[in-house]
Amino acid sequence: MLTLITGGGGFIGSHLATYLFDETEDDILLLDDFSTGNPENVSHLIDHDRVELIQGDVIETGTIEPLVERSDRVFHLAAAVGVQRIVDEPLRSMRTNLVGTENVLEAAVDDRTPVFIASSSELYGKSEDVPFAESDDRVLGPTSSLRWSYASAKAIDESLALAYHRDHDLPVAIGRYFNIVGPRQTGQYGMVIPRFVEQALANEPLTVYGDGTQTRSFTHVADAVRATYELLTTPEAHGEVINIGAPDPTSINALAERIIELTGSDSDITHIPYEEAYNENFEEPQQREPDVSKLEATLGWYPSTDLDRILLDIIEEREQAVVPE
Ligand code: UDP
Repeated sequence: MLTLITGGGGFIGSHLATYLFDETEDDILLLDDFSTGNPENVSHLIDHDRVELIQGDVIETGTIEPLVERSDRVFHLAAAVGVQRIVDEPLRSMRTNLVGTENVLEAAVDDRTPVFIASSSELYGKSEDVPFAESDDRVLGPTSSLRWSYASAKAIDESLALAYHRDHDLPVAIGRYFNIVGPRQTGQYGMVIPRFVEQALANEPLTVYGDGTQTRSFTHVADAVRATYELLTTPEAHGEVINIGAPDPTSINALAERIIELTGSDSDITHIPYEEAYNENFEEPQQREPDVSKLEATLGWYPSTDLDRILLDIIEEREQAVVPE
């Protein structure tokens, strides 16, 4: 079995690669353009015969087509991610997310190669109707607020995948990730937990955006990759959109306080207006929590690693990375 992971050098992709390496006999192809991914993320795997790492871009058909055609299944995780990156580079982000996904699906059609499509809880937008179920309406802001370009692109990705499933009987499973976090995630593109942990370990102020009452449901990457793998290998999940998340929301203020406690840091918390953090038109989902009943009905379980465990895993990793003075 040859399995392709696009975005295989990224945060979730590298954890999925490790999971496949440990739990299956698959040969593993990793494709990444290293725009946000990093070869270091898979350095523990690439010396093995079962793993091949290729640098390339999913928007280049000459690159992606032959790789998909060689593969028996595809986890399509290559995407421009991170709110910061989306608002900084909206055009490049949209091209990666739209053209890349269409290329993968089109290349998979002839052999009806199963494809997992990584989508996002960002699709639910500003809805306050938590918890969010897959069949709920989406509430997005205007196109002038660049943040929403990501949700729009991912919605098209989902629609494309569902259309390929309907028209070509392509086995597709679509997972909507809810704030996946864990070791190896970089804070460079805005993700809150690595940023707060690094700030706390440096005894610098934790930068809470807005008033900090907004909530998120953080999901351990180990849970997310297991769900990802199981969804693609479960025929009942094909042609379906399914939330992947832990139904345990926390406010960003509470998150900052807990990180300070767990690190024993002397840091303070500082609140920064969104306009300063991103740009003038910035809009922020206030609440985000998955309804996991569909995931549970499909797989018989849902992610439930508690927040302290997640934070301790990340803190431990970052502490090891800090060079002693
Ligand atoms: N956030 C924050 N400080 C930071 C980075 C992010 O307060 O340094 C907030 C952000 O405004 C959001 C939450 O943390 O409310 C989660 O942000 P992230 O970018 O990790 O994920 P999002 O849910 O926005 O995609």
